[in-house]
Amino acid sequence: MSLPTIIIGAGVGGLTTGALLAHDGHNVMILEKSTKLGGRTASMKFKNHILDNGFHIMPFYKKSAIFTILKNLGIESRLKLAKVDDIAFYATTGFHIYPKGMIDLLKLSLIPFKSRVRLLKLLLPLAFSSIEKTELWDEIPLTKITNDLDADTNAFFEAVCMLAFADTADHISLGEFARTIIRANPFKGGTSEFAYPDGGGYDSICHVLGDFILEKGGDIQTKQSVKKVIIENSKVTGVIVCDSSNSEKFIPTNSVVISYPAYTALNQLFEENVIDRKFVQKIDKLNKTTSVVEVHFALNSQIDTRQVVFPVGDDYVTKGIFFISNITPSVSPSGEHLIIAGTPVLPSETEDSEKIKNIVSKMKQEISSIYPKFNSALLWERPMAWKLVESVVKEPGKVWKSKMPHQIPGIEGLFFVGDSTISYGIGTDSAAHSSILCAPKIESFLNC
Ligand SMILES: Cc1cc2nc3c(=O)[nH]c(=O)nc-3n(C[C@H](O)[C@H](O)[C@H](O)COP(=O)(O)OP(=O)(O)OC[C@H]3O[C@@H](n4cnc5c(N)ncnc54)[C@H](O)[C@@H]3O)c2cc1C
Repeated sequence: MSLPTIIIGAGVGGLTTGALLAHDGHNVMILEKSTKLGGRTASMKFKNHILDNGFHIMPFYKKSAIFTILKNLGIESRLKLAKVDDIAFYATTGFHIYPKGMIDLLKLSLIPFKSRVRLLKLLLPLAFSSIEKTELWDEIPLTKITNDLDADTNAFFEAVCMLAFADTADHISLGEFARTIIRANPFKGGTSEFAYPDGGGYDSICHVLGDFILEKGGDIQTKQSVKKVIIENSKVTGVIVCDSSNSEKFIPTNSVVISYPAYTALNQLFEENVIDRKFVQKIDKLNKTTSVVEVHFALNSQIDTRQVVFPVGDDYVTKGIFFISNITPSVSPSGEHLIIAGTPVLPSETEDSEKIKNIVSKMKQEISSIYPKFNSALLWERPMAWKLVESVVKEPGKVWKSKMPHQIPGIEGLFFVGDSTISYGIGTDSAAHSSILCAPKIESFLNC
């Protein structure tokens, strides 16, 4: 049998690539350094609840890159999805409709009617443009078109950016924003709906993909940390792997796919001078990740029937309240309810326990001001902070085709996938999109 293609990492990027290659009869070996599959989506059990690694939701539901891959593999029925579409904004004036389509914008009670019409005029040309056209706007900041809007409409934009990009509008490229609007437009074959695995745990997506790879004869090994990718005469010849007992071994191969953030991998996996320094420095500039503090709260009664609520306005530290057990009750034991509240922070703040404590206490005050029964229903809370949420850069000039390429010119057999590499979309959707784009390149190399 041919040498396996070694895929480093078993997150959404590594597993979608692995599944696409295995489906077409290629021999794949996935090496994952942690004990489980899922990468940043890995979930865990805590006090009989299924806790995700922070709140995870699938943008674009059945139009997402992940679902497209599952469909192409013929295994979409293995992943039952709960639809996430009961979403509202909360402002000091109360709850407001979350627009599911362009027409809903006219009902957007969050902002005055005149502003709704202006908003529609602004968004319609974007929504009916094409993905190709959006490339012309990749260097332009979103704020170029939102600067002149009134404060209410700007607050709406900020809320949408928080939802779609976990970031503020001044950090978002107009091109990336427009692609999201196009993909959310049902008249262009898109959807603004979201999804979440019905059985609980966002990593069930990775388990479905992992099972498929094994069925196709692929190999997945956890607790295997790849230390070096060996390149000789500009060709991949193998990897050096370290297992949990710290013993190193060499695995020969002529093709390696790196699926974790490229700006980290390029600085870890290669002997000096193998990769051009200037290229590495250019990719290092893509290390612009978003960081968040998110808190799981378990409750003994249901304080809302909605699935997601976005508090709007500068006054709120809490930018999203996700009622996970309203999306699917499978995440919680009977009689208990699970919510997660989150807010973006600076990367340095994720290591500041005092800061995190203050954020949690502010969130609790805010949630109980919206839901007076929150405090008495609270069973426990579990705060977490992530320095790395997405490696999807959204800044003007660093999006879509300006991201890490799937191949480095002049090096044979080396490929890159995952959310830091050329792709568009949010988080896991972007990681899966990179696999759709890269898999044919890997196959054409393997078939040579
Ligand atoms: C708190 C939080 C909330 C999020 N919310 C959402 C959301 O709502 N929707 C959404 O779509 N996305 C969301 N994301 C982002 C999403 O999780 C990521 O974009 C996506 O999972 C990235 O997948 P990936 O395969 O590119 O990388 P990863 O998931 O990082 O996978 C890389 C894998 O490589 C492994 N690895 C690294 N180094 C080595 C090595 N040397 N040897 C072997 N293995 C190695 C890692 O352990 C990891 O398993 C969120 C992320 C976080 C942290």
